[in-house]
Amino acid sequence: MELSRREFLKASGAGMGGLVLLGAMDSGKPPPQTIPLSKQPLGETYTICCYCGVGCGALATATADGKQILNIEGNPDHPINEGTLCSKGQAMSQFHTVNGENNPNRLTVPLYRAPGSDKWEEKDWDWAINEVAKRIKKTRDETWKETINVDGTTYRVNRTDAIASFGGGELDNEECYALVKLLRALGLVYIEHCARI
Ligand code: SF4
Repeated sequence: MELSRREFLKASGAGMGGLVLLGAMDSGKPPPQTIPLSKQPLGETYTICCYCGVGCGALATATADGKQILNIEGNPDHPINEGTLCSKGQAMSQFHTVNGENNPNRLTVPLYRAPGSDKWEEKDWDWAINEVAKRIKKTRDETWKETINVDGTTYRVNRTDAIASFGGGELDNEECYALVKLLRALGLVYIEHCARI
């Protein structure tokens, strides 16, 4: 008997289905159940991961007093991530710090190590921000390039090549937006982010 390709696939598919069914009956185990995509709320709070532009949905469960996050997981009902979270999203609970709870290692004050020193000193925010601003201004003034010359042609560039910015994955979308505006205005061209390296 000659079988077309389609008939062969139909016959072999039916045969395999029968074997699988017989196997399930033989083992005495109930057939596998489907797991529903939606879940019933158990007191979680719906939230959106703030780390990147993907905007994954998450469910956060806190203690009754709201001081400590007990669990963060992807929201299976969210159309973007359908229950998944990357490692940054899974670490979102570290943001939630009340009196140092949840993440006692999170830095809340600037630390400064002077040149040649082997110690970190705690500084206040005004001191740290002024120091950073002073150093950026000095370096930018000393290295500013209005124009560059390439093969005899002069191009206006208005930039400094002496300062680079390395952003972190823990910056949220709004912080990144404001930061890039500032960096471009300062004339920086070397702007990177850990997620791209
Ligand atoms: S950082 Fe990860 S979990 Fe958060 S929005 Fe982006 S991809 Fe989703």
